[in-house]
Amino acid sequence: MSTSERRRIHRCACATCQQHPYSLMAQQHKAINRVLASLDEKNRRRCVGLLAIQWGSRSISLLSRITGLSRTTIHRGKHELEHPDARERGRVRAPGAGRLPVEKNNPALLRR
Ligand SMILES: [Zn+2]
Repeated sequence: MSTSERRRIHRCACATCQQHPYSLMAQQHKAINRVLASLDEKNRRRCVGLLAIQWGSRSISLLSRITGLSRTTIHRGKHELEHPDARERGRVRAPGAGRLPVEKNNPALLRR
């Protein structure tokens, strides 16, 4: 993995990690975030979606606090695992998702 691909490891914001940073639970949350930092966007979303399936749907707010991913993203990852869709296989983002190409944001670049 190159330096540009390396993602910062999210620090869990749950009450346990704040009050007992050396507890077993805090270590587990750190381990989850270390794994997530090594994944691309799609696999990060699906990995947390898998945890949501295993921990139950009431865990989504907690997982959001632990991982820093939005509840919407976690729901989407969970949905993608429960309803695999051939259209999305092999893609990191849905067609049309993400930032605009730089040429579209700054047409002056094309005139040089
Ligand atoms: Zn935590």
